[in-house]
Amino acid sequence: HLSKRLQTVSDHVEAGSRLADIGSDHAYLPIHLAKNHIIDYGVVGEVAKGPLSNAISEIKKDNLLDVLHPRLADGLAAIQAGDNIDAITIAGMGGNLITHILEEGKAKLTGQEKLILQPNVGEPAVRKWLMTHQYRIFAEQILEEDGHIYEIITAKKSPVPVTYSDLELKFGPFLLKEKSPVFVAKWQEEIGLLQRVIHNMQKAVEPDIAKIDAIQSEIKTIDEVI
Ligand code: SAM
Repeated sequence: HLSKRLQTVSDHVEAGSRLADIGSDHAYLPIHLAKNHIIDYGVVGEVAKGPLSNAISEIKKDNLLDVLHPRLADGLAAIQAGDNIDAITIAGMGGNLITHILEEGKAKLTGQEKLILQPNVGEPAVRKWLMTHQYRIFAEQILEEDGHIYEIITAKKSPVPVTYSDLELKFGPFLLKEKSPVFVAKWQEEIGLLQRVIHNMQKAVEPDIAKIDAIQSEIKTIDEVI
């Protein structure tokens, strides 16, 4: 049984995809996809030995070692020539780490892959990387599970340059249009957080007025969006 978060990520993997799941940990996502015959080829990449051995024992339990190929590797180095990967999932890490993995592994990307990314925080950095490298976002989801709010971004290389406004990079081009209740809740929470930051800053002997103004204008931006 998958979490709602990983289920939503897995929904974006098309039947017959050749998947690379990077930072797979227990490999729950690729195992789910293989068990349900959505994929019959998957690379399970892990940089750490502990999680990789967890992945291997989970894959063995389901007798899927002929379908899922666990590899100890940093980021996209898990992908080898001949894998013919056409879908990459990177889930459950910070946006900066996801961006770093994509940047370091650029040479492994053919431009044919669908990228399915689920940053826990720092989504704007991921969107910025996608834009800079001419990837078009074609779907976004936002969901809440166990008190956490998660965003899922899927993208594909575009034949033409892609531009997103600052607002779209911050909030997400699709999420911004949709303005779902979870989206509104996420950004209301962020306003509350920023207000507490301002409150604490104002208690300083010499409050940093410029910084407070900047945060106030950020609050205004969010307020206008939601
Ligand atoms: N993807 C799973 C999920 O969403 O539930 C597991 C997420 S887990 C919190 C993050 C995993 O990414 C850890 O097992 C960690 O070892 C792995 N990881 C971190 N940096 C990595 C990198 N550069 N290359 C491959 N794996 C990495």
